[in-house]
Amino acid sequence: MVSTFTHEFNTPVYKGRASFSTGLYINGKFVEGSDKTTIDVINPSTGKVITKVAEATAKDVDIAVDAAQKAFETTWGLNSGGAERSKLLGKLARLMEEHQQELAALEALDNGKTFTWAMNADTAVAIDTIRYYAGWADKIHGQVQETDEKKLTYSRHEPIGVVGQIIPWNFPLLMMAWKLGPALATGNCIVLKPSEFTPLTAIRMCELIHQAGFPPGVFNLLTGYGSTVGAAIASHMKIEKIAFTGSTMVGRKIMEAAAKSNLKNVTLELGGKNPNIIFNDADLDQAVNWAAHGSYWNHGQACTAGSRIYVQSGVYDEFLAKFTEKVRSLKVGDPFAVDSYQGPQASKVQYDRIMNFIQSGKDQGATVHLGGDRNGTEGYYINPTIFTNTTPNMKIVQEEIFGPVGVVIKFDDEEDVIRQANDTVFGLAAAVFSQNITRAITTAHRLKAGTAWINCVNQIHSNVPFGGFKQSGIGRELGEYALHNYTAVKAVQVNLGYVM
Ligand code: NAD
Repeated sequence: MVSTFTHEFNTPVYKGRASFSTGLYINGKFVEGSDKTTIDVINPSTGKVITKVAEATAKDVDIAVDAAQKAFETTWGLNSGGAERSKLLGKLARLMEEHQQELAALEALDNGKTFTWAMNADTAVAIDTIRYYAGWADKIHGQVQETDEKKLTYSRHEPIGVVGQIIPWNFPLLMMAWKLGPALATGNCIVLKPSEFTPLTAIRMCELIHQAGFPPGVFNLLTGYGSTVGAAIASHMKIEKIAFTGSTMVGRKIMEAAAKSNLKNVTLELGGKNPNIIFNDADLDQAVNWAAHGSYWNHGQACTAGSRIYVQSGVYDEFLAKFTEKVRSLKVGDPFAVDSYQGPQASKVQYDRIMNFIQSGKDQGATVHLGGDRNGTEGYYINPTIFTNTTPNMKIVQEEIFGPVGVVIKFDDEEDVIRQANDTVFGLAAAVFSQNITRAITTAHRLKAGTAWINCVNQIHSNVPFGGFKQSGIGRELGEYALHNYTAVKAVQVNLGYVM
């Protein structure tokens, strides 16, 4: 029997009740996994079990794919009109808005991010994204190519079919919205796997998707592990496209599985180790505030985290003093407290990973300028950490830590900092702070990254393309660009009079 999860939130920032099924969502119904096993969902603030959710297996992937394929051939895909898809996505956005506080509270409970940020960022942008793609659904069209008066030639942008989507735990609802919006707007059917660490908002979304009126099988959710369910999705012969967000290491496996199975179309949104460059002529107070937000927002668990902070020598000392004060003021605590900026890291695995990185920084001779230790005795809290006196080859400078750890590095000239900033296998995002518009823009153009922010960081808009250069990914999400990931272009050539 599929069980129900019920939780009373009685917190300073939100009072309310959540109650929903914890099954897999296949063909419009909540069901148990084929093996009837479950996964524990852990509260990172306490380390205790919140609930159990159904665990899918490779067998459930087959069942979900069949349901999705049937929906694609009957009620969705080319059998659905863009206006209808737009209406359903619009309704979903409205339902998400009605339940925004509940979704934000679930995110805070399950992931550990603060309720306030979950309201202002995760859920708000997720709703915008679904609404944005509702607007696109009836505007998907090809072109007419003029070839010859005796021919009519045109292209159609057809949905691909059944698409597999795999998402991480750092922005569970937001990453789900980025995947759903363009795939559903263009008429594809979905089999999605959330992270095993943070499945709650994805399950709650199934009820909202159901309520919005999407036909059964159009959207299917499989809660399960990466090595089983994720791997089965990546290598499935009937899934014709896979969209993955997660680590570069797993992204590589996804591509390999796609190549070894049916050569499915692959888009990847992967890791980053993003440079944040502060020139002597920056507005220093603003640069300090943005740099702190860049490195520590979402507990540093952001693929765009600007955790390599390069500061020009003329302002280095002043920046470091002000930055230290700012970072020290970031309140670490209960995600449901009014004044918390940073909650616990999302899982024990991630907590241990970050502490190992901090230890490696110490072992390799960097200076712990601030933090570097656990916060409290319960849950997975880590104090915001600043390292100085690093060298370019240190692990904390080269690798994605995905935690509240920034390195502050002094540089002298522009050429030198651009070389250092680009000295990485990643290329997701970068930021430049300067009041000299020419310097700011020319530097931004020379950085090898999919997003370059000038005098700001971590700005995301539903209509602005997002994705990585180099090992940070393949393809773009958001904006009109994301629609191309989910359509196949067909050229149709009609003979209007040639005789053979
Ligand atoms: P992860 O790669 O460990 O897991 C991501 C997802 O892949 C999870 O659902 C996991 O279960 C699944 N998975 C694991 N092994 C798999 C396998 N063998 N086959 C198929 N699926 C498998 O990443 P994570 O720890 O959940 O998330 C953190 C990473 O995500 C960071 O590297 C971060 O930079 C990246 N990220 C990137 C973006 C972006 O847009 N570029 C956004 C958010 C997070």
